[in-house]
Amino acid sequence: MSNPVKLIDAPEGFEGSGFFATSFENVIGIARSKSLWPLPFATSCCGIEFMASMGSHYDISRFGSERPSFSPRQADLLMVMGTIAKKMAPIVKQVYLQMAEPRWVIAVGACASSGGIFDTYSVLQGIDRVIPVDVYVPGCPPRPEQILDGLMEIQKLAVNESLRRRNTDEYQALLESYNIQ
Ligand code: SF4
Repeated sequence: MSNPVKLIDAPEGFEGSGFFATSFENVIGIARSKSLWPLPFATSCCGIEFMASMGSHYDISRFGSERPSFSPRQADLLMVMGTIAKKMAPIVKQVYLQMAEPRWVIAVGACASSGGIFDTYSVLQGIDRVIPVDVYVPGCPPRPEQILDGLMEIQKLAVNESLRRRNTDEYQALLESYNIQ
């Protein structure tokens, strides 16, 4: 990941002396991006790949996300992995609603992204039918490297996230389109 710090030119007389300045918002963005706490909502096979990404070989802790949270109130990244039955859709939405802002969502694998091979009456054809999704990770299943790549994409979003995202018209419109207040 490239250096996300937005540097401001050093004041006159301090050029080249190892001095830099940045904004409080940037510091918060960096801190958020390096300490995303995922909530693994795993229903089937893709969840096994997530478990591999937690192991020492792929080592998700390199990205500051080694602390999975099974309480939505202590998570800021919802990772949905596996087939989501339509009867389960309200639960996915409820979990999302219980997460505090800022929160992000990854649809891991074909099933979470689009229903995958289960084009049938009982399966939700993508979790973006019920909640906003920030990153889609393709594959059936995706390899752990792809899951980590998805996490790095979320880091890029987090580092540039406005501190007051909820107040932006764009974000409000997104939530309203999902009937979320
Ligand atoms: Fe299983 Fe493939 Fe669906 Fe992942 S995308 S849950 S591997 S069927």
